[in-house]
Amino acid sequence: MKWLIPAVISCIAISACTTSSTGRQQLTLFSESELGKMGISSFEDLKSKEKISTNPKTNQYVQCVAADIIKQVSPNEKPADWEVVVFDSQQVNAFALPGKKIGVYTGILAVAETPAQLAAIIGHEVGHVLERHSNERMSQSQFAQIGMQIVEAGLSANNVESKQLLMSGLGLGVQYGVLMPFSRTHESEADIVGQRLMAKAGYEPKAAIALWQNMAKVSKSAPPEFLSTHPSNKTRITNLYNNLANVNPLYQSSSKGRCNKA
Ligand SMILES: [Zn+2]
Repeated sequence: MKWLIPAVISCIAISACTTSSTGRQQLTLFSESELGKMGISSFEDLKSKEKISTNPKTNQYVQCVAADIIKQVSPNEKPADWEVVVFDSQQVNAFALPGKKIGVYTGILAVAETPAQLAAIIGHEVGHVLERHSNERMSQSQFAQIGMQIVEAGLSANNVESKQLLMSGLGLGVQYGVLMPFSRTHESEADIVGQRLMAKAGYEPKAAIALWQNMAKVSKSAPPEFLSTHPSNKTRITNLYNNLANVNPLYQSSSKGRCNKA
């Protein structure tokens, strides 16, 4: 955690700072449009290598829930640009990449038992993208590795030391053999942002709690891939519970989610 102090200093010195929607100061050294391009090309790569689901019902179901969630992002985040792909795999997994790309593995649909629980997963992943967590995570890694050199080198995404760092920073650690779990801070923030999105989209926000309880149950027998990058713990369930008072009014005034489980 030694990087924290220089990170904060540089944050002030070089204005590579942003503020998340929950009011957290972030060190974001990389250009969002560059990261977006990298996310998009990684996603194309995955689409060519992994099996995409051809089941019409499953696709319709996931796209329906995803559309409801994405409709809720601000116009600045260009709802029309988001892409969601269902991968046919028993892996209990889902991910999101900068560039507004989301992958959902069919295996996670057995754990997310209802449309509202799926909405919690998609909302959470969209939350990681909206809050620039990949940028922040890669900035922290870069900073930890080379400190101020990055400032001299011009803060370009081309300075990423290795493809592995890039891929794990983008949230593709498992696929590329390097594991970089999201921090608790990022998890909590994605949970809160996701719960707000699902409530606005008309999905009962308490389903996010049931989802993580299901994840905890599954992880006792065989830890799902999702949990290796998305650590589960009691704190996040407590936080989601405590956030209900904030998001329930959004749910009450929403038009209710329209999707049926496949
Ligand atoms: Zn996450």
